[in-house]
Amino acid sequence: MSQPVVPNVIAGRTAATPGAEPLLVRNPATGRVIAKVAEAGPPDVEAAVAAARAAFESWSQVPLGRRAAVLFRFRQLLAEAGDDLAAIVSREQGKVLSDAKGEVARGLEVVDFACGIPQLLKGEFSPQVATGVDVASWREPLGVAVGVTPFNFPVMVPLWMSPMAIATGNAFILKPSPQDPSAAVRLAELWDRAGLPSGLFQVLQGGPDVVNRLITHPQVDAVSFVGSTPVARQIHAAAVAAGKRVQALGGAKNHAIVLADADAEFAANSVVAAAFGAAGQRCMALSVVAVEDAIADEFVERVVAKAKAVTVAAGDDPAADMGPMISARARDRAEEIVSAAAAAGARVALDGRGLRPTGLEGGFFTGPTVLDAVTPAMRAYAEEIFGPVLAVVRIRDLDEGIALINANPYGNGAALFTGAGEAARRFERAVTVGMIGINVPIPVPVGFHSFGGWKDSLIGDFHVYGPQAVDFYTQAKVATRRWPAPDHSPKASFNFAARH
Ligand code: NAD
Repeated sequence: MSQPVVPNVIAGRTAATPGAEPLLVRNPATGRVIAKVAEAGPPDVEAAVAAARAAFESWSQVPLGRRAAVLFRFRQLLAEAGDDLAAIVSREQGKVLSDAKGEVARGLEVVDFACGIPQLLKGEFSPQVATGVDVASWREPLGVAVGVTPFNFPVMVPLWMSPMAIATGNAFILKPSPQDPSAAVRLAELWDRAGLPSGLFQVLQGGPDVVNRLITHPQVDAVSFVGSTPVARQIHAAAVAAGKRVQALGGAKNHAIVLADADAEFAANSVVAAAFGAAGQRCMALSVVAVEDAIADEFVERVVAKAKAVTVAAGDDPAADMGPMISARARDRAEEIVSAAAAAGARVALDGRGLRPTGLEGGFFTGPTVLDAVTPAMRAYAEEIFGPVLAVVRIRDLDEGIALINANPYGNGAALFTGAGEAARRFERAVTVGMIGINVPIPVPVGFHSFGGWKDSLIGDFHVYGPQAVDFYTQAKVATRRWPAPDHSPKASFNFAARH
């Protein structure tokens, strides 16, 4: 059976590049090929950037209220398309439907924030900074912004970027992951139906070649990247060298500390959901739990019991708590890291290796795995696994837990489970990560704050969405104004500081 080809969207038209060797899209629950993606070639990149540039010239002059009206319509259409989008995400990415709906909901929050763009772009004004002199400052769009996004959130991450880029007056070109490329095309359709002029939201499909052409293109001004740290570094370096403004969000190894005074049942439920939800393929997944010695044995038992009860099935199975991983390669790597940890002395308290649900033997499944007595030297601790594997590290106290987090090269998120305000406050102030949860396992900020990690989890200066996105997608302009009175001084002033 011939497979559908997922197209590019260039200047309002869908275009499947002829002749390119297609990349295959598989349903991770079955392993079967369900679509093909034809990589955008150099002429596609040229056409998209030219259309974006032309569209930007007029869009940046469109009154703010009219821009907001497009965003309000897009918000409505996105909400209505939530179930459709979730089905696309679940089919290509593998996550369970309820989680895919949650991803759309988190993306919607960013659109909510972007709808307030007239307020967000209000400038500042200082009257009479000197006699007869006023100063006004405001922000203007950059031009063409590019977004390069990962496989794990094919709707939410493009929505972290595009609503704010567009609301602030830019054109946006999305390069989604070739592993789950269809949601991007559906988003383009929704923007079009919302009345966004063509060329302002375009999609170019493919892999590194397309990315490298886009991020160094002379007519591109800004690059937002979300993906793994090695690629984030590479993209940041190349795009900065080409003179672009860049934010590059990378991988993670998020820790939760569980103190002896925490509500153990609440903490265990939170840790299990955050470690195994979306098969651990969230940049804010908890992959390490550091437990105080005093309660460690009992806590690990509790976590293992709950992890055993996780139902692993295809994402569209209503009974599923957890779906497959994205690919056979990713699954095999995760299982190999578990084997290496066992060989290095970790105790496999729950072994998910080899789990293959009946009827879905071709799918990319592995079961929830709990590794106890992990040490920082093991691969299971040192590497981002990005799968349903929870590493347990035993700690003497909060200080040892904080030191562990701070020694880790990643700094996306960290959570603390405790009943003590003093410990929570100390933790908040001491840990070197960007997003903190206190009795909250996945502290993803709401759309009116900004999202971003520290250290190897974010290369660049700006977090995504929220107020920082206004700054990222715009540049400042300041006007100093004087309207000389008819009786102004007849002499030239040679004093740089003199304004009066
Ligand atoms: P990835 O780095 O392999 O790919 C991300 C994007 O970059 C894709 O569009 C891909 O096609 C492109 N790409 C891949 N290799 C490239 C190269 N050499 N040159 C140019 N472009 C390239 O990441 P992934 O596997 O799709 O996603 C998982 C990773 O993303 C994990 O590390 C996860 O932690 C991270 N992630 C981070 C955040 C965050 O907010 N920090 C959010 C989601 C995912």
